[in-house]
Amino acid sequence: MKRIGVLALQGAVREHIQMLEALGCEAIQVKQRKDLGNLDGLVLPGGESTTMRKLLDRFDLLEPIRGLAQQGLPMLGTCAGVILLAKDLIEDEPHLAVMDVTVARNSYGRQVDSFEVQLDIPKVGVGIPAVFIRAPHIEAVGKGVEILAQHEGKIILAQDGHLLGCSFHPELTEDTRILEYFVTSMV
Ligand code: GLN
Repeated sequence: MKRIGVLALQGAVREHIQMLEALGCEAIQVKQRKDLGNLDGLVLPGGESTTMRKLLDRFDLLEPIRGLAQQGLPMLGTCAGVILLAKDLIEDEPHLAVMDVTVARNSYGRQVDSFEVQLDIPKVGVGIPAVFIRAPHIEAVGKGVEILAQHEGKIILAQDGHLLGCSFHPELTEDTRILEYFVTSMV
Protein backbone atom coordinates (compact mmCIF):
# COMPACT_ATOMS: atom_id res chain seq x y z
CA MET A 1 0.00 0.00 0.00
CA LYS A 2 1.37 3.44 -0.93
CA ARG A 3 1.96 5.78 2.03
CA ILE A 4 1.07 9.34 1.06
CA GLY A 5 1.55 12.21 3.49
CA VAL A 6 -0.74 15.23 3.55
CA LEU A 7 0.72 18.40 5.04
CA ALA A 8 -1.76 19.00 7.86
CA LEU A 9 -0.95 22.45 9.20
CA GLN A 10 -3.90 24.28 7.65
CA GLY A 11 -6.29 24.07 4.71
CA ALA A 12 -8.10 21.30 2.86
CA VAL A 13 -6.48 18.37 4.68
CA ARG A 14 -9.41 16.07 5.48
CA GLU A 15 -10.69 16.04 1.89
CA HIS A 16 -7.29 14.93 0.56
CA ILE A 17 -7.03 12.23 3.23
CA GLN A 18 -10.47 10.86 2.36
CA MET A 19 -9.74 10.86 -1.37
CA LEU A 20 -6.36 9.17 -0.93
CA GLU A 21 -7.95 6.49 1.26
CA ALA A 22 -10.69 5.99 -1.34
CA LEU A 23 -7.89 5.37 -3.86
CA GLY A 24 -6.47 2.61 -1.65
CA CYS A 25 -3.54 4.58 -0.19
CA GLU A 26 -2.50 4.91 3.41
CA ALA A 27 -2.82 8.65 4.15
CA ILE A 28 -0.59 10.15 6.83
CA GLN A 29 -1.22 13.57 8.40
CA VAL A 30 2.09 15.44 8.42
CA LYS A 31 2.32 17.83 11.37
CA GLN A 32 5.88 17.33 12.53
CA ARG A 33 9.22 16.20 11.18
CA LYS A 34 8.81 12.61 12.31
CA ASP A 35 5.66 12.25 10.18
CA LEU A 36 7.81 12.63 7.04
CA GLY A 37 9.49 9.23 7.47
CA ASN A 38 8.92 6.45 4.92
CA LEU A 39 6.53 8.34 2.68
CA ASP A 40 6.04 7.41 -0.98
CA GLY A 41 4.55 10.81 -1.82
CA LEU A 42 3.39 14.07 -0.24
CA VAL A 43 0.39 16.32 -0.88
CA LEU A 44 0.60 20.04 -0.09
CA PRO A 45 -3.05 21.12 0.12
CA GLY A 46 -4.77 24.41 -0.62
CA GLY A 47 -5.26 26.98 2.08
CA GLU A 48 -3.41 30.24 2.55
CA SER A 49 0.23 30.15 1.56
CA THR A 50 1.45 32.96 3.86
CA THR A 51 -0.10 31.23 6.88
CA MET A 52 1.24 27.86 5.78
CA ARG A 53 4.72 29.31 5.40
CA LYS A 54 4.61 30.66 8.96
CA LEU A 55 3.54 27.25 10.25
CA LEU A 56 6.19 25.46 8.17
CA ASP A 57 8.79 27.68 9.83
CA ARG A 58 7.32 27.28 13.30
CA PHE A 59 7.22 23.47 13.09
CA ASP A 60 10.60 23.24 11.41
CA LEU A 61 9.23 21.55 8.31
CA LEU A 62 10.44 23.80 5.48
CA GLU A 63 13.98 22.42 5.16
CA PRO A 64 13.02 18.74 5.58
CA ILE A 65 10.28 18.99 2.93
CA ARG A 66 12.61 20.87 0.57
CA GLY A 67 15.24 18.16 1.09
CA LEU A 68 12.75 15.38 0.28
CA ALA A 69 11.66 17.21 -2.89
CA GLN A 70 15.29 17.58 -3.93
CA GLN A 71 15.83 13.86 -3.31
CA GLY A 72 12.94 13.06 -5.67
CA LEU A 73 9.95 12.40 -3.38
CA PRO A 74 6.82 12.84 -5.56
CA MET A 75 4.77 15.84 -4.44
CA LEU A 76 1.41 17.28 -5.46
CA GLY A 77 0.76 20.93 -4.62
CA THR A 78 -2.82 22.14 -5.02
CA CYS A 79 -3.63 25.85 -4.98
CA ALA A 80 -1.62 27.26 -2.04
CA GLY A 81 0.46 24.06 -2.41
CA VAL A 82 1.75 25.04 -5.87
CA ILE A 83 2.63 28.46 -4.43
CA LEU A 84 4.75 26.65 -1.82
CA LEU A 85 6.47 24.48 -4.47
CA ALA A 86 7.33 27.26 -6.99
CA LYS A 87 10.91 28.41 -7.53
CA ASP A 88 9.62 31.88 -8.35
CA LEU A 89 6.64 33.89 -7.18
CA ILE A 90 5.53 37.12 -8.77
CA GLU A 91 5.74 39.82 -6.08
CA ASP A 92 6.70 37.40 -3.26
CA GLU A 93 9.75 35.53 -2.00
CA PRO A 94 9.58 31.80 -2.82
CA HIS A 95 8.99 29.17 -0.10
CA LEU A 96 10.16 25.62 -0.88
CA ALA A 97 11.54 26.82 -4.23
CA VAL A 98 11.80 23.35 -5.80
CA MET A 99 9.52 23.34 -8.85
CA ASP A 100 10.75 25.13 -11.96
CA VAL A 101 7.72 27.37 -12.42
CA THR A 102 6.81 31.01 -11.81
CA VAL A 103 3.51 31.38 -9.99
CA ALA A 104 1.21 34.38 -9.59
CA ARG A 105 -1.12 34.42 -6.56
CA ASN A 106 -4.79 35.41 -6.57
CA SER A 107 -4.87 35.50 -10.37
CA TYR A 108 -8.57 35.60 -10.86
CA GLY A 109 -9.47 38.86 -9.13
CA ARG A 110 -11.74 39.56 -6.21
CA GLN A 111 -15.00 39.62 -8.14
CA VAL A 112 -14.62 35.96 -9.12
CA ASP A 113 -13.04 34.60 -5.97
CA SER A 114 -14.34 31.14 -6.65
CA PHE A 115 -15.70 29.26 -9.65
CA GLU A 116 -15.89 25.78 -11.16
CA VAL A 117 -15.12 24.64 -14.71
CA GLN A 118 -14.90 21.31 -16.53
CA LEU A 119 -11.52 20.57 -18.04
CA ASP A 120 -10.35 18.13 -20.70
CA ILE A 121 -6.84 17.13 -19.72
CA PRO A 122 -5.30 14.74 -22.28
CA LYS A 123 -3.11 12.88 -19.77
CA VAL A 124 -5.82 12.67 -17.11
CA GLY A 125 -9.29 12.55 -18.66
CA VAL A 126 -12.23 14.52 -20.05
CA GLY A 127 -14.77 16.63 -18.16
CA ILE A 128 -12.68 16.96 -15.01
CA PRO A 129 -14.36 19.33 -12.55
CA ALA A 130 -11.97 21.98 -11.24
CA VAL A 131 -12.80 24.28 -8.33
CA PHE A 132 -10.83 27.54 -8.20
CA ILE A 133 -10.78 29.47 -4.89
CA ARG A 134 -8.69 32.65 -4.93
CA ALA A 135 -6.51 30.54 -7.14
CA PRO A 136 -2.97 31.08 -8.37
CA HIS A 137 -1.86 30.35 -11.94
CA ILE A 138 1.45 29.30 -13.43
CA GLU A 139 2.85 32.24 -15.34
CA ALA A 140 5.92 30.53 -16.83
CA VAL A 141 7.56 27.11 -16.81
CA GLY A 142 11.18 25.98 -17.08
CA LYS A 143 12.53 23.79 -19.88
CA GLY A 144 11.80 20.40 -18.37
CA VAL A 145 8.28 21.21 -17.23
CA GLU A 146 5.29 19.72 -19.01
CA ILE A 147 2.13 21.83 -19.25
CA LEU A 148 -0.81 19.49 -18.62
CA ALA A 149 -3.73 21.95 -18.65
CA GLN A 150 -4.59 25.55 -19.37
CA HIS A 151 -7.76 27.54 -18.80
CA GLU A 152 -8.41 30.79 -20.66
CA GLY A 153 -4.76 31.01 -21.67
CA LYS A 154 -3.40 30.47 -18.16
CA ILE A 155 -1.42 27.39 -17.15
CA ILE A 156 -3.23 25.65 -14.30
CA LEU A 157 -1.65 22.17 -14.17
CA ALA A 158 2.01 21.38 -14.83
CA GLN A 159 4.48 18.62 -14.06
CA ASP A 160 8.16 19.08 -13.33
CA GLY A 161 9.33 15.45 -13.16
CA HIS A 162 8.20 14.19 -9.75
CA LEU A 163 6.44 17.48 -8.85
CA LEU A 164 2.84 18.20 -9.90
CA GLY A 165 1.46 21.72 -9.47
CA CYS A 166 -2.27 22.41 -9.71
CA SER A 167 -4.08 25.78 -9.45
CA PHE A 168 -7.41 24.31 -8.43
CA HIS A 169 -8.81 22.00 -5.74
CA PRO A 170 -9.27 18.45 -7.08
CA GLU A 171 -10.16 17.22 -3.57
CA LEU A 172 -13.30 19.36 -3.32
CA THR A 173 -15.23 17.34 -5.94
CA GLU A 174 -16.21 13.68 -6.15
CA ASP A 175 -13.85 13.19 -9.10
CA THR A 176 -10.68 11.39 -8.07
CA ARG A 177 -8.82 11.46 -11.40
CA ILE A 178 -6.21 14.16 -10.63
CA LEU A 179 -5.18 12.46 -7.39
CA GLU A 180 -5.32 9.11 -9.16
CA TYR A 181 -2.95 10.44 -11.84
CA PHE A 182 -0.56 11.51 -9.07
CA VAL A 183 -0.64 8.26 -7.10
CA THR A 184 -0.59 5.88 -10.06
CA SER A 185 1.67 7.67 -12.58
CA MET A 186 4.06 9.59 -10.35
CA VAL A 187 4.32 7.77 -7.00
N1 GLN B 1 -4.94 32.64 -2.41
C1 GLN B 1 -4.32 31.65 -1.59
C2 GLN B 1 -2.85 31.97 -1.34
O1 GLN B 1 -2.33 32.89 -1.88
C3 GLN B 1 -4.45 30.26 -2.18
C4 GLN B 1 -5.89 29.90 -2.23
C5 GLN B 1 -6.19 28.44 -2.07
O2 GLN B 1 -5.34 27.62 -1.71
N2 GLN B 1 -7.44 28.11 -2.26
O3 GLN B 1 -2.23 31.28 -0.60
